[in-house]
Amino acid sequence: MTDIDVLVIGSYVQDHCWQTERAPERGETCLGRFSTGPGGKGFNQAVAAHRQGVETCFLGAIGDDALGVVARRFAEDDKLAAEWIVRRDAATAASSIVVDARGDNRIVVALGANEKLGVPEIRANEALIARAKVLLMQLETDLAGVDAALALARSRGVTTVLNTAPLHPKLDPATLRHADIVTPNETEFALLIEKLGGDEAARRDARAAATIDERRLHELCRSTGVPTVVITLGGHGCFVSHADGNRHGDAASCYRIAPERVKAVDTTGAGDAFSGGLVAGLVMFADRPFRDAVVHANRIAAMSTEIVGTAPAMPTRAEVTARFG
Ligand code: ADP
Repeated sequence: MTDIDVLVIGSYVQDHCWQTERAPERGETCLGRFSTGPGGKGFNQAVAAHRQGVETCFLGAIGDDALGVVARRFAEDDKLAAEWIVRRDAATAASSIVVDARGDNRIVVALGANEKLGVPEIRANEALIARAKVLLMQLETDLAGVDAALALARSRGVTTVLNTAPLHPKLDPATLRHADIVTPNETEFALLIEKLGGDEAARRDARAAATIDERRLHELCRSTGVPTVVITLGGHGCFVSHADGNRHGDAASCYRIAPERVKAVDTTGAGDAFSGGLVAGLVMFADRPFRDAVVHANRIAAMSTEIVGTAPAMPTRAEVTARFG
């Protein structure tokens, strides 16, 4: 029974943002403005998918504390179905972001309960995973847990999507074998190629993914062994590469998609909007070419840059339709 379109397993982080004229020096106290909101790659991506109107469920770990209560409230207010693993041995994850007048930021993150979303927690949720059409994960939670969840989903016929962010030095390349689709950004793609043993030329070309020849980029994507690679390229749009015989209805095995024209004011969370939008698109346009889902993701990500913040900046399906038709 696949009654969940999209299951996102991943991180919840409570973002605390201070805006100051300039960042404090050692020992100094500065006055600033404060705002707080939900964040974490997993939660952001779940909100992005959910706001497209597909049946979405978020599975995350929080502490038995006040921020955990806030996390639940955010999900409830957004009417996002969520399964929370409440840990007594870890706090709800929190970040501290100091942004100065020039827009430069200094960030500290405590991943807290996210690091406890491990193999036992994944096994305990096997039935939930099996109910999904698509599973989306990132690398902000326990890596063994990520590996276990993707492998389990695969064995149950669930489409697996891994947003390889942030690219963790300890990531076991074997984890990639459980992913049907990966969605690195340009930096993460270059690190991935390096991690997979790419030579100097491969690393150099991967770093220039936004501008290099399509054939060469396709070749680099194919060296990952992942059936479909979608590289997000910020203000350059994105690039899609499919393995032979696995084009998901696309006419070409590789292609670029240009960015949508927007007035970007805050690109934080654009990658999350893209991955969440992509999995929603895969469900919404299941009988159409893969490209349609990517175009949808590109639109959602572009729109998310026009509003400050991460999860709250994700557009709804109605907003995307009103904008792009
Ligand atoms: P990340 O946030 O993970 O670094 P990117 O910067 O690659 O991810 O951005 C993800 C996606 O967001 C891009 O593929 C694109 O669709 C969209 N995007 C980002 N910046 C812009 C921009 N300036 N104009 C239009 N779209 C953008």
